[in-house]
Amino acid sequence: MAGEGEFDFIRTRLAPLTRGHPAALDLTDDAAVLTPAPGCQLVVASDMLVAGVHFLDSDPPEAVAERCVRSNLSDLAAMGAEPLGYLSSIAWPRTVSPAWREGFVDGLASAQGAFSLSLLGGDTTAGPGPLTISLTMIGQVPARAALLRRGARPGEDVWVSGSIGDARLGLEVARGALPADPYLLERYYRPSPRLALGQALRGVATACLDVSDGLMADAGHIAQLNGVRLELQAACVPVSAPARTWLADRGQAGLVNLVCGGDDYELLFCAAPAQREALTALAARLGVPLTRIGEVAEGQGAVLRDERGALIDTGTGGFTHF
Ligand SMILES: [Mg+2]
Repeated sequence: MAGEGEFDFIRTRLAPLTRGHPAALDLTDDAAVLTPAPGCQLVVASDMLVAGVHFLDSDPPEAVAERCVRSNLSDLAAMGAEPLGYLSSIAWPRTVSPAWREGFVDGLASAQGAFSLSLLGGDTTAGPGPLTISLTMIGQVPARAALLRRGARPGEDVWVSGSIGDARLGLEVARGALPADPYLLERYYRPSPRLALGQALRGVATACLDVSDGLMADAGHIAQLNGVRLELQAACVPVSAPARTWLADRGQAGLVNLVCGGDDYELLFCAAPAQREALTALAARLGVPLTRIGEVAEGQGAVLRDERGALIDTGTGGFTHF
């Protein structure tokens, strides 16, 4: 897009996404002007999706937009932040059809509606390809209360929200490598950023992140940053009913695939054992399952153990067993 076409697109399709947020100035100014609540710090996260790398060419444009917004919101959730709005920068190749662009904007609108979110600004440009989408999510958190990845200490519990592995299986459904399964596909296309949970974990979790690279890899990130070892129990890893069905005849190798998959967008966090009761109550209050899956120990790395305490080899990290 260039010239008049782009201005029209901004005015007719993108400007309504501001939903009248005063910071956006109807997308008619050079920049957004944002006022955080008194005593708050801004939390800013950016995420880039490239066609053919981060999503499939066959993915519906609405789903690409939803994943983009939701995965970015998940980064704010991991920091304990409340979203304020976002910027969207898109390089459209000339081969992208008007219908695809319309579908993408519909997906943005749908995701925004689910989280009362407004578009605050951004940029669109035509490019030689591939389609590249960058969202910048802006949130706020009370000063010095942001959840960080550093802070875990030996003796603490390791918790994870929701279930692990659904998105990885959903990707295989989208690729046609697994039979149709609406639940798994939904978990891949429309992950649930745990915003309320993240905000409730402020002052409770000692270290927190959202699982995007895979449970084991992300547990490894917490371990490395804190100079500790995360000991996870395979039997405790929460899996959904469809994932359990998939696991039935695959056993341990299947579980390794799920804990090494990615895009779960669940929160993985550490907390003192004294918080167990409070966390159980929090899970009930929010309607978000929280599962204690292991503990923080002296040492390094993240390991997975079977019921007899033997180490499970998760080293290859590949997702191959179909
Ligand atoms: Mg993250």
